Amino acid sequence: MSSTPLSAGDYIASKCTKCGQETNHTIVAMVEDVPVKVQCNTCNGTHKYRKPAAPKKKAAAKKPATRRTKADPQAVERQQWQELEPSFNASAAVAYSMDGTFKLRALINHPTFGLGQVQELTGTRKMLVLFADGSKVLRCA
Ligand SMILES: [Zn+2]
Repeated sequence: MSSTPLSAGDYIASKCTKCGQETNHTIVAMVEDVPVKVQCNTCNGTHKYRKPAAPKKKAAAKKPATRRTKADPQAVERQQWQELEPSFNASAAVAYSMDGTFKLRALINHPTFGLGQVQELTGTRKMLVLFADGSKVLRCA
C-alpha cells in the first residue's frame, strides 16, 4: 500500500483563518476520504478543512447594472398626492374604519398611512385610497 488514506488524528496542511496562513492541522473529523474538520496545531482553533492552494473561485462577472427607466408607480402616486394635498382640509378627515362608509373624494385618516383621499370605490367593500406614499386598497362598508 503506497497511499495511506487519511484518517482522523493525521496531520494535514490547511489554511487557517485565524493564523492567516497555511499551518499544520490535525484532522478531527473525516467524511469518507475527505477531512472535513481540522484543528490548527498553531492556534488550536478547530475549523472546516480548506484545501491548501485551492484555486480561487472566480468571482461571478458583474453584469453592468441595467438602469431601469420604468416609471415607479409609487412615485407617480406620490406626485399625485403632492398636487392634491394643498386642497385637502385635514380637519375634515374622517377616521378610517373597516365598517365605515366613505364617499368618493372623501378625506380619511388612517392610523398607519395617515391622511388619504378616496380615489375609487372598487366594488364590494373595497376602496382605493391615495396616501402620501402611494395608494392602497382598503376595506370599507
Ligand atoms: Zn491557526
